[in-house]
Amino acid sequence: MPQNADRVLDHATLFREPEYEAMFESKRNAFECPHPEEKVQEIADWTKSWDYREKNFNREVLTVNPAKACQPLGAVFAAAGFDGCLSMVHGSQGCVAYYRSHLARHFKEPCSAVSTSMTEDAAVFGGLQNLVDGLTNASALYDPKMIAISTTCMAEVIGDDLNSFVIQAKEKNGFSKEFPVPFAHTPAFVGSHVNGYDVMVKSIVANFWTKEEGEPTPGEAINIIPGFDGFAVANNRELTRMLDLMGVEHTLLSDVSDVFDTPTDGTFRMYAGGTTIDEIKAARNAKATLALQQWCSEKTLEMVADETSQTTQAFNYPMGVSATDAFLMAVSEITGKAIPESLELERGRLVDAMTDSQSWLHGRKMAVFGDPDFVYGMTAFLLELGVEPVHCLSTNGNPAWEKKMKALLEDSPFGKDTQVWPRKDLWHLRSLLATEPAEFVIGSSHGKFLQQDLGIPLIRLTFPIFDRHHHHRFPTLGYQGGLRVLVTLLDAVLDKLDRDTEKPGISYDLTR
Ligand code: SF4
Repeated sequence: MPQNADRVLDHATLFREPEYEAMFESKRNAFECPHPEEKVQEIADWTKSWDYREKNFNREVLTVNPAKACQPLGAVFAAAGFDGCLSMVHGSQGCVAYYRSHLARHFKEPCSAVSTSMTEDAAVFGGLQNLVDGLTNASALYDPKMIAISTTCMAEVIGDDLNSFVIQAKEKNGFSKEFPVPFAHTPAFVGSHVNGYDVMVKSIVANFWTKEEGEPTPGEAINIIPGFDGFAVANNRELTRMLDLMGVEHTLLSDVSDVFDTPTDGTFRMYAGGTTIDEIKAARNAKATLALQQWCSEKTLEMVADETSQTTQAFNYPMGVSATDAFLMAVSEITGKAIPESLELERGRLVDAMTDSQSWLHGRKMAVFGDPDFVYGMTAFLLELGVEPVHCLSTNGNPAWEKKMKALLEDSPFGKDTQVWPRKDLWHLRSLLATEPAEFVIGSSHGKFLQQDLGIPLIRLTFPIFDRHHHHRFPTLGYQGGLRVLVTLLDAVLDKLDRDTEKPGISYDLTR
């Protein structure tokens, strides 16, 4: 045998041992009725042709490998950013296991969320009893300060009404009527995790604001809604650092930076950090609410505008120089606080680094995929760097996003040939890259199969990143984040150059 107690092999090497190769081969021949290898290759090549691309783009009722997740995942992420908040997902257990594992695989941290565990009987008779029992058990077992409920497909298909269920649950199980149970319907068959994030932040904030009496009395502080962001651990801290440097009093509405970054010191923290209930209440009296991601906050900003006289403004994942400038200048204008010299120096250092390296990035062709705000912010930074985006694809991008993207691209000579693809999936992207290639693809870990299939290197800069560790611990927003993104892009370009030149030995240089 290839391994024994003294020689234990990892699966990556074990399954390449001759015994396993022979076993796979015999399984293929005995059970898979394989087509001849030449035929398989012929079809594989055809799927990379313009002919296949046309057929692929005629797809109407089938999605293959969408670059998005379902609404409740966003709701669970948003709820995790509030102090002592336990997510309860009304529906089937498997869905909740998916959200927990998805977030845990990215952040390499445990993610707590409970399920009302609906099964066949609840699907037929409704999930009221599951919700009543779930609230009682979860509050007794996990001692939360609030329970935020979202829904899976199952609860939505049968039409369970959370408002009525929560009222009945409070009457039936005897815990305080004042105990906060914000809820949001998050039907997974429409929208995506960015909408789930939006409605959950709105629900939690509105839950406390609507109980406050009297008109809001605007003070000096501002609210920030970070949006669904796989880099939130570092980005929220970076945001706080920049605003502290400016002396701007602020509240992050949903701050996951601590709960997805707990220390190993012998104590399990089911709840860590996050926006407190007092902070949510006080946020009603803020001067303004700014959202870092437009498509993660449309409904929340509408609610803020309806409930208060606050200024509201949305950004699109401010990455790079101009977008960070625009964000900080808006903060400065709203609060009257000047941008300090220390931030100006950081800006200058980013510009210096971009200038030092511009010859390696200028004219490179890259494709970007991901959530609408990420793709917008990333593309804006690429244009600043002189990179030519070939394809910008967002499965959860809508026509308004497409229009905004095109306006951005029209403004730059590097964007004149860029194609924008809303509501397209990664199988579409495969066809696009096979027929009109890019040198690099920027996106999530899901892009590694494009790399495997088409040989185009993947640059991991957005959620989910499952197959690399700790990227989320370094910011991508602000000037410091811009530096980190710049280095990530440059490493990919220079690594590829080294790989391409090491065999011929020509231009395999020590200094780049
Ligand atoms: S799409 Fe529906 S069934 Fe699938 S994980 Fe989301 S809620 Fe559950």
